[in-house]
Amino acid sequence: MHIHYTCRHCDRDLATIQGDQVPLSKLGFDVLDAEDIERMVDVQNNGDVVLHVVCDECQDMQQNYLHYRDPYYFIQ
Ligand SMILES: [Zn+2]
Repeated sequence: MHIHYTCRHCDRDLATIQGDQVPLSKLGFDVLDAEDIERMVDVQNNGDVVLHVVCDECQDMQQNYLHYRDPYYFIQ
């Protein structure tokens, strides 16, 4: 399966990684609670996982203009 990262603000495709190469603990799931995971993780019919994260640009914009740290920001 693959793991796709997309920005949940601008819908940009950020990265696709081969999921079975990466243990889920490396993806940062362990720092999220169940509600976070439900909101940012989509499992597709083919088994691929889509992670709705925030890209660097959107993160910068938020920090510069809103002074707001997105709780779903994801360190890749
Ligand atoms: Zn973005």
